[in-house]
Amino acid sequence: MGGPVENLLIDGERVPAAEGRTFDTVNPATTEVFRTVAEAGAEDADRAVRAAARAFEDWGARTPIQRAKVLYRWADLIEEHIDELGLLETRDMGMALGDARWCAGNAATVMRYYAGAVDKFFGSTIPVDRDGIVLTFREPIGVTALITPWNFPLNIANWKTAPAIAAGNTVVLKPASLSPLTALRYAELGLEAGLPPGVLNVVPGPGRAVGDALVEHPLVGKVGFTGSTEVGVEIARKAAGTIKRVTLELGGKSACIVFADADLEKAGRMAPFSVFENAGQDCCARSRLLVEESARDELLEHYVAATRAIVVGDPEDGATQMGPLVSAPQRETVERYIAKGTDEGATVIEGGTRPEGAGYYLRPTILDGCTNDMVVAREEIFGPVVSVITFRDEAEAVRLANDTPYGLSGSLWTRDGARQLRVARALRTGGIGVNSNSSVFPQAPFGGYKQSGVGKELGMEGLVHNTELKSVFISTEA
Ligand code: NAD
Repeated sequence: MGGPVENLLIDGERVPAAEGRTFDTVNPATTEVFRTVAEAGAEDADRAVRAAARAFEDWGARTPIQRAKVLYRWADLIEEHIDELGLLETRDMGMALGDARWCAGNAATVMRYYAGAVDKFFGSTIPVDRDGIVLTFREPIGVTALITPWNFPLNIANWKTAPAIAAGNTVVLKPASLSPLTALRYAELGLEAGLPPGVLNVVPGPGRAVGDALVEHPLVGKVGFTGSTEVGVEIARKAAGTIKRVTLELGGKSACIVFADADLEKAGRMAPFSVFENAGQDCCARSRLLVEESARDELLEHYVAATRAIVVGDPEDGATQMGPLVSAPQRETVERYIAKGTDEGATVIEGGTRPEGAGYYLRPTILDGCTNDMVVAREEIFGPVVSVITFRDEAEAVRLANDTPYGLSGSLWTRDGARQLRVARALRTGGIGVNSNSSVFPQAPFGGYKQSGVGKELGMEGLVHNTELKSVFISTEA
């Protein structure tokens, strides 16, 4: 069984849900119950929002430097608890332990970034055509409701929470029910670091009941959501009722474009990790591999070999590179996509099957011979599957990469400097790695074009989206 119940965190206290309900989280590597968690409902969401509104009166009035001191302590505590947070994440959602530990370290880095950034983020003095001056002020919004997905639970909670709290807002965080545990522990560490009660409240529970209560609550000023485009649309619609500020980080179907002039050995060796990391459950996954026709065979030779070498297994084993998928339904969905791909004419040239034993594992899978109009090239699979598509020239590569309703991420492999810039600029997507799988950094803005989202996280943009901008005119007329 799940041991003692993991209660909600409201107003600085761990409390049971008002209606006394609980739910179990399952370790996807063993398929056994890992923990039992209090299940928040609408009443708990309301209590949490009210606690956050009370806490805002003090927290929002503190100076950025006073707030930063707490954030620095919090970052230190996160770093001291990397082992605990990493293992908790691994058992809660199946992420390979090395990756989960990296994510916990990243949470400390992002927290320090915002502790250091918040007193360097200020307004301006603007001359106007009157005797006097306009001053602008960056002010916190108030209570922010942050709703997060299950795939990078701690990271995404922190990418939203750290800038919100640094900027003087207070937070009600609703983590996904599949993986709520690191968010609760993270918030406890915040209290230990000196966050006043009510500044960060955590209410795990069903999306509809808790989500609706938060998104429609009159005391909530901003909703920050990361999740599927489908739910994002619903949230935007509901938040419009009270003109809330809304940022949405949604799905993706990003391309990895490999030109014949690239270092094909390096691209083939590295690019598989841009889709198979975290078992492909990554909004930035480069799940379409676009390769120049003349380089297809050579690239695939390296790409397939590197994919075959990925160590799939017990996520708690330090050597493991890819753990299980988060749940049985998630694996079934991915398997249905693989079947759909072969029905439509693709060929599985690697993976496609479950390894033996317990756990929701699935081998990294390469679907060759795809075209961009197939379902597997259009819909976000959110599992370890890549669809291979060939192109004849640069114009076709750009056209195919952009032919998607999404625009979150992508990579581009070429040695031609002018082409690097030309193609990177031509792609309608929020972030690109050139000769690299990386496009996300704490210091740089992150967020989607088109149906991949609205607004940016990370970098100074994270503070922009957590503040209101006020203009004050001071007359100097005698
Ligand atoms: P999801 O949309 O099903 O759920 C996300 C969160 O929203 C969960 O906490 C869920 O409980 C809640 N929710 C569900 N219905 C709701 C409703 N009606 N009102 C309010 N809240 C509701 O997504 P998921 O399955 O948890 O995560 C996978 C999705 O997240 C993928 O589409 C992935 O691309 C996306 N994602 C995007 C980013 C990004 O930064 N762009 C990052 C990670 C994941």
